Amino acid sequence: MNTFEWMNVTTVAEAVNALKSVPAPSDMDDAARPIAGGQDILTTMKEYITRPTRVVNLKGIRGLDKIESDGKGGLRIGALVTLNQLEESPLVRRNFPGLTEAAHSIGTPQIRNLGTVGGNLCQRPRCWYFRLEEVVCLKKGGTECYAATGENKYHAIFGGGPSYIVHPSDLAPMLLALGASVSVMGADGKRAIALDKFFTLPADGNVRRENVLKNEDIITGVLVPASKFAAHSTYLKFKERDSMDFAMSAVAAAVTLDASKTVSEARIVLGGVAPVPWRVPKAEAALVGKTISTDLLTNVAKVALEGAEPLARNAYKVPLTQTLVRRALARVGGLA
Ligand SMILES: Cc1cc2nc3c(=O)[nH]c(=O)nc-3n(C[C@H](O)[C@H](O)[C@H](O)COP(=O)(O)OP(=O)(O)OC[C@H]3O[C@@H](n4cnc5c(N)ncnc54)[C@H](O)[C@@H]3O)c2cc1C
Ligand code: SF4
Repeated sequence: MNTFEWMNVTTVAEAVNALKSVPAPSDMDDAARPIAGGQDILTTMKEYITRPTRVVNLKGIRGLDKIESDGKGGLRIGALVTLNQLEESPLVRRNFPGLTEAAHSIGTPQIRNLGTVGGNLCQRPRCWYFRLEEVVCLKKGGTECYAATGENKYHAIFGGGPSYIVHPSDLAPMLLALGASVSVMGADGKRAIALDKFFTLPADGNVRRENVLKNEDIITGVLVPASKFAAHSTYLKFKERDSMDFAMSAVAAAVTLDASKTVSEARIVLGGVAPVPWRVPKAEAALVGKTISTDLLTNVAKVALEGAEPLARNAYKVPLTQTLVRRALARVGGLA
């Protein structure tokens, strides 16, 4: 790990200033960074993946560690809320069960005790080439994606190229399904970014970034609006090690059913299969106006995986994800 300056701050404005006042380095991974729970950033610093000269500690900022109702049935979740707090919140459990499940699916109780919501959304990818200090792949400023032709068992089947990472956050697919946005404070003040505009595909912008945040931007919280489908939401995740692991595939699903059990609204977002949480609008449309049945779910699952482009070692993700889609929808549709 390189030497760095540690800076404690007590307000969001101070944090933004502390990040902004470090001159932009020639390599973006040398830029000053905020730290929350520290679980991901310290690992990347130890492996020289990120090399900030200044680390700004957000934990002294008051008021960002609360989960509150917005008074209209929605939620305001502070960026410093821990994953454990989210998992254990009765308010979340009652009205947004899929979010409780997503939080519960993350790591171990120790990881959830330290990890924060803001840090979870901004954690870096788990690609093993990226995480190896010695390998300088495209995402680290090199010229080649080693996963494209190498060991790509855990990589993307949608939206890949030129990097084939999958987004590691379990909260992200569920929050996207729930229509959430992040509140951000930057050099020009506050702004809200809908989650479907927050994450970026490698081909869309800078291959070295995973989201639209600027260096000095601080996430202050996540807003989850009230919706009819939030109460019928679920998060299903498949991991290789049952004890704790990142998703090989996951599905965030939510539906609104009318009195005759017909689906009037549906949200389906796939996790662990693309560089961003991957919404499948065609599959959602295939559900709307129909009554949930086994045959319908088989068809919707097929539609959800249309267009998948597996790499040499990850074709298993197609049937695996289809199964998760069927099971998640059966659960929220009352079939399971
Ligand atoms: C063994 C292990 C298993 C794990 N398993 C899972 C899993 O199954 N599913 C899953 O989703 N995650 C998993 N994680 C990831 C873990 O949940 C994240 O590392 C954690 O949530 C990051 O939160 P943090 O507060 O520690 O972030 P930090 O490490 O402090 O920060 C992570 C990144 O976010 C940035 N950041 C932090 N807060 C803010 C903010 N408010 N505004 C702007 N940028 C910010 C930092 O600069 C840094 O780039 C696992 C981690 C470990 C170590
Ligand atoms: S998938 Fe992305 S992070 Fe992994 S080797 Fe390829 S470019 Fe690097």
